[in-house]
Amino acid sequence: MSWTTQDACNSGFSLIAVSNMVDVTAIVTAMSGLKAATDIAKGIFDIKSISEVQGKVIELQSVILVAQGSAMAAQSEQYSLQEKVRQLETDLAKLQSWETERDRYQLEELPPGILVYRLKPGFENGVPPHRICATCYNRGSKSLLHITDRGNGLTNGKCYSCSFEVQSGRFIEPQINRSNWMD
Ligand SMILES: [Zn+2]
Repeated sequence: MSWTTQDACNSGFSLIAVSNMVDVTAIVTAMSGLKAATDIAKGIFDIKSISEVQGKVIELQSVILVAQGSAMAAQSEQYSLQEKVRQLETDLAKLQSWETERDRYQLEELPPGILVYRLKPGFENGVPPHRICATCYNRGSKSLLHITDRGNGLTNGKCYSCSFEVQSGRFIEPQINRSNWMD
């Protein structure tokens, strides 16, 4: 499955929407708890007996605890949301950077039929011509194909990221000098 900038944006928006819903619920709970606490506190002045006051104080403490819990949950949700947004922004920046980078390369077939990506002419930006691994390219990353050996018409290369090894070219019989001492 390919992952595009649009996918990342869509995912980000739905993530924010879900997190906001949870956030709002916690805030509403905290606010209704505080309103209930205010109502209880107002009612205390109308009570005449100490035992009733004690009962109301316990009720008040309970309501305040619930409100505090909801406020902390809302704060935690907000922190979690900020972290997710920051991570998403980082992922998006990487994706946009790769989209720019991958456009510098074009698919090339090397004999006997090996597919690699090569730097397009005019996109050098000061770097020498080179080829990169098609497997890594399709996974969304750039990895150079390093030349490990060359001779008799063949070139061996390797990608050190995914261990892909390539041998391109056509074997050429080595030229043997037959003019020897027996002639
Ligand atoms: Zn690779």
